[in-house]
Amino acid sequence: MSDNENKGILIYAQLSRDFNLLDVVSELASEAQKLSQKLNGENVSAVLLTDGTNIENIKENLKNSGFDKVYILKNEKFSEYSTDIYSKVILDLIKEIKPSIMLFGATTQGRDLAPVIAASLNTGLTADCTKLDINEKGQLAATRPTFGGNLMATILCKNYPQMATVRPKVLQIENVQIKDTEFIEKNIELNDIYSRTKIIEFVKTIQETGITLNDADIIVAGGKGVKNESGFNKLKELAALLNGVVGATRGAVDMGLADSSMQVGQTGKTVCPKLYIAVGISGAIQHQVGMCGSKKIIAINNDENAPIFNIADVGIVGDLNLIIPELINELKNRG
Ligand SMILES: Cc1cc2nc3c(=O)[nH]c(=O)nc-3n(C[C@H](O)[C@H](O)[C@H](O)COP(=O)(O)OP(=O)(O)OC[C@H]3O[C@@H](n4cnc5c(N)ncnc54)[C@H](O)[C@@H]3O)c2cc1C
Repeated sequence: MSDNENKGILIYAQLSRDFNLLDVVSELASEAQKLSQKLNGENVSAVLLTDGTNIENIKENLKNSGFDKVYILKNEKFSEYSTDIYSKVILDLIKEIKPSIMLFGATTQGRDLAPVIAASLNTGLTADCTKLDINEKGQLAATRPTFGGNLMATILCKNYPQMATVRPKVLQIENVQIKDTEFIEKNIELNDIYSRTKIIEFVKTIQETGITLNDADIIVAGGKGVKNESGFNKLKELAALLNGVVGATRGAVDMGLADSSMQVGQTGKTVCPKLYIAVGISGAIQHQVGMCGSKKIIAINNDENAPIFNIADVGIVGDLNLIIPELINELKNRG
């Protein structure tokens, strides 16, 4: 494994629609530095695609992220995401610089791009990882939940580059070593690349408070125990009073009580708020993997044996239909 020509770690530095770097890029950069130390200090690079907007600002942010090199690929068509165009352009760069490891955030875009690139390179991809490491043979050991979240599997890839997507907010940013980052700007010609898709409309999944589930400090999440729409409306009222947002279990989404964009868990979003209030949620492992990083967890459930109480900082055993209105009243009385 060690005598292959692939060297270094490449990270896809995804930009938001307003041309800022996503937080997951810093998380991946910090993790890549740790991996690089176990690979005798191999280079950590990033690639980003831009139409040219906000470049100086992006460079300023990336300068402190610990990258050795940043490839800034420019074309005005990069303003809108396209699977065909983005994957082909990143693929060309991978063929040119031959990284040993390529990492993406497990965002909607990362989850779309990474498999297309992996398939084109005939290499493997470990999706939705929660932990990365380098084993004694210098291979990427990528860990992710499997069998419905009941087991953690560590997966090795025998082809190069070894690819993985990593969930946002699961990696801690630690002691980033500031480097003298080299920025390589390239104008990309798209002559023979065309996109089979076109963006017609961009629908933001932002709730009434204007805060996304990923950015919220406080999440009030409802499960099947909430039972009906009026119960969920109470959760919305509570969330609004706390300046938070409403999340949901897959159970609640399946019942039609909440939109799938609100789902927290293995097949939903990974969240790390300061406070997570789990209401009428049993605490299945598939839900826990998406919210167990919350700083404080309050669980409200009428079954004292519900697994959610095993990870809760504060557990309230009782009927949510009594407890939630009381909480709302208390907050209203306090103004
Ligand atoms: C591959 C796979 C992926 C999955 N991905 C996800 C995922 O991303 N997110 C996710 O959430 N789930 C996911 N699931 C489903 C998961 O296994 C559980 O089925 C789901 O989380 C259960 O949702 P729940 O807690 O709302 O429902 P339940 O397990 O039915 O729990 C409802 C809880 O409400 C309590 N309750 C009932 N009435 C009251 C009341 N009046 N007052 C107080 N408490 C009350 C009950 O005691 C119970 O504990 C996945 C499953 C699989 C197999």
